[in-house]
Amino acid sequence: MKFTDLKYERPDYDTVVKTYEELLAKLAAADNKDAFLPVFREINTLRSSLATMYNLAYVRHSVNTADEFYDKENEFWDETNPLFAVYDTRLSKLCVECPFREELYSDIPEPYFLAAECQLKSFREDIVPLLQKENKLISEYGKLKASAQIEFDGKTYNLSTISSKAEDLDPAVRKGAMDGKLSFYEAHEADFDRIYDDLVKVRTEIARTLGYPSFTELGYQRMLRLDYDRNMVDTYRREILREIVPAAAELYEKQAKRLGTKTVAYYDKAMEFPAGNPTPKGTYEELIQAAGQMYHEMSPETGEFIDRMIEDELWDLKSRDGKQMGGYCTGIPDYRIPFIFANFNGTSGDVNVLTHEAGHAFQYYMSRDIPVLDLQWPTNESAEITSMSMEFNAWPWLNLFFKEDTEKYRYTHLSGTLKFLPYGVLVDHFQHEVYDHADWTPEERKACWRSLEKMYQPYLDYTGAPILEKGCWWFQQGHIFEAPFYYIDYTLAQVCALQFWARERRQDPDAWKDYLTLCRLGGTKTFTGLVKSAGLKVPFEEGRLSDVVREVHSYLSSVDDAAL
Ligand SMILES: [Zn+2]
Repeated sequence: MKFTDLKYERPDYDTVVKTYEELLAKLAAADNKDAFLPVFREINTLRSSLATMYNLAYVRHSVNTADEFYDKENEFWDETNPLFAVYDTRLSKLCVECPFREELYSDIPEPYFLAAECQLKSFREDIVPLLQKENKLISEYGKLKASAQIEFDGKTYNLSTISSKAEDLDPAVRKGAMDGKLSFYEAHEADFDRIYDDLVKVRTEIARTLGYPSFTELGYQRMLRLDYDRNMVDTYRREILREIVPAAAELYEKQAKRLGTKTVAYYDKAMEFPAGNPTPKGTYEELIQAAGQMYHEMSPETGEFIDRMIEDELWDLKSRDGKQMGGYCTGIPDYRIPFIFANFNGTSGDVNVLTHEAGHAFQYYMSRDIPVLDLQWPTNESAEITSMSMEFNAWPWLNLFFKEDTEKYRYTHLSGTLKFLPYGVLVDHFQHEVYDHADWTPEERKACWRSLEKMYQPYLDYTGAPILEKGCWWFQQGHIFEAPFYYIDYTLAQVCALQFWARERRQDPDAWKDYLTLCRLGGTKTFTGLVKSAGLKVPFEEGRLSDVVREVHSYLSSVDDAAL
């Protein structure tokens, strides 16, 4: 059935609440596994239908924000989701405190209980006013960024549209556009400082109210870090510093050489090649056709998946008026299908949608039969392994998308992963420092950022950008404001995806099989459990990164980058 034909119906609030309450009472009364499981399944069915209707409304609103019907439905869900969440919390509590909990693991895998525990430990009714205050500040940050009007070359840009100039062939345009963007942050430095200062204070207050020494411990619970702690992350960051920073420095040196400059200027970071970065070749239809061919040749499973995506129109990829910005992948559980939302813009990002977002969608498609709703998707860091690995699975077929730019793209893609890792751990390290020193002034925070930048990205050249010299780059990093501690996840996933890349290059016959296993497992295991099940090395121990870094480095060194 085509996506547009799927039936949406707003659930009746009172009926849902009544049913949910009755089922919770039955669950509370269940005194053995055989009494517990059927009721748990009934609740699961109810929650699955709510998630289905919510996601249908959400998608249909985002593809056409002018649609009045779905605009209203979206409002309904904004209001009722937090009310339903109260019952979800009761469900979590009953499960976590169930006296025969361990007997349930064969039907409801343990990660479900671990995640429920994290949720319970991050919430109590008396912190609701503080959470509201936190949400208000997050909205304020979003609104401030959305208010940006950057005058450049006789036109007005916002923060998203001005970014497209970062890959302009003319260095003067790149510099002018970047300076325009930075002048917005400079003009609002005090606002960003105040919003973040208030956020750190309110988060610290929430954490202390719940009995945590600082927000960091609570941040880990909120992110559902089921099986690793800050000490393990600390070791991992030191490994990145030791193994990756020198390799990234070498890549920036080569980039400067190609651009004919001494260092890579702050406005040239996205510019890999003086003659232009790689771009996809072909029309929208040709790119979709290429994706179809690629997934058919990749495996029977991906072939079936892509046919379903195309036939049932389980995506909305073209940019047009009235559509929300950005991109995402979500699942519609009752119909057991994923959906991809994107805004194609003619850059290599379009192919990324067809590989990365399609990787998320494929994982969901493979795990759609997992009976426990909450375990169909893994936690964030694990979800990114399947999508980032799909970007590498696509390597043998990249010529279908990039034609004469294929080698250029491969080089940019792989070197981009090494350049990203130091930045990713910097964002994480900064937040640990910030919440460990909750009484820091904004000036102290900015000084900390700048000194960490010098440690993880010693190659950055901020000459001519005083706002960056001052330590304000992170104002534009939304996660720091909106989803604290959500960032190390991308780097953990990346070093796992690189292991798949290396295994595929070595033609390891088990690489594809292990990738499929990972997708099929969904969230039924924790991060380290999933990584081990896929035959990958858990990245937290000393020396775990060296092998893969060596292989990536040797590939990149073998490329005559100046000739690309
Ligand atoms: Zn992703």
